[in-house]
Amino acid sequence: MIEYPWYSHPILYRVLVLSIKILNKEPLRIGAGRGSPLSPIDLPVITIRLPEGNPPYIPGSSLKGTFRSTAEYIVRSLGINACQAGACSLMLWDERERIRYGERLNRLLREGNEKEVIELLSRYCLICKLFGSSSFSSHLNFEDAYPTGGVSTSMKTGIAINRRSGAAQRGALYQVEFVNPGHEFKSKIVAKNVPNYGLGLLAVILDYLNEGIIKLGGFKSRGFGKVKVEVKEIKGKTLKDNSYISLSEVKKLPALDEYDIDIEINPDDIDGTLKEFKKAWWTYANRQRTVRG
Ligand SMILES: [Zn+2]
Repeated sequence: MIEYPWYSHPILYRVLVLSIKILNKEPLRIGAGRGSPLSPIDLPVITIRLPEGNPPYIPGSSLKGTFRSTAEYIVRSLGINACQAGACSLMLWDERERIRYGERLNRLLREGNEKEVIELLSRYCLICKLFGSSSFSSHLNFEDAYPTGGVSTSMKTGIAINRRSGAAQRGALYQVEFVNPGHEFKSKIVAKNVPNYGLGLLAVILDYLNEGIIKLGGFKSRGFGKVKVEVKEIKGKTLKDNSYISLSEVKKLPALDEYDIDIEINPDDIDGTLKEFKKAWWTYANRQRTVRG
């Protein structure tokens, strides 16, 4: 049934949408860069312009960055190959031509050479396959997380330290803004053509966040950024016998490649489904380790 490997994009085999709720258990700071010269806040939090006001929010790009770096960390700690921040596209394809993977991929995509695109993508690490690189789009997309109610922020005064002398700089107090603990944000993770073990890796990352091993935003070492993430709903469609069927109508999500396994799925039982995803992840991780000997 699989005509193209999942990491190439021409056929949509499945799409899953995970609705998530993020609760910040500690102060949360996602910076907007420097404040305006007229603002009393030197380091404001990032806000979004909505019809009802300009509340702080968590940009999808920020979520994606955290998920990607955590995925790198998990994969590498298991002894599986993972590049740093998409560096696969910088690898040299041809020593004589001095052409890099990313450039070659761009060219092949322009030419519509699907066979060669797949051959080249198969050389990329798992993280680049899942999260994309400069030349091809991600299989995982994170929507901006908007607050479900009003958001209150507070200010913390910091002292700028001279990096060389280690002493406080004269007149160097600055104001840092942060979101107070206890606010809820809603977002969606959209996973297109992600194999069951990739969904499992996502579920493992959610555990890392919930255990406080991974935090969101800045000032993490100063007690900021612990969150609780809850999957509220799993929806989606999967390709079966040439038509797309809703996840609620299938009992099984088939393996998408030779390292993947079939899993039982029941969107009404979110915890059970996340467990099945994780089973696929650990099966994949163990197989990869065996392959490496
Ligand atoms: Zn890579």
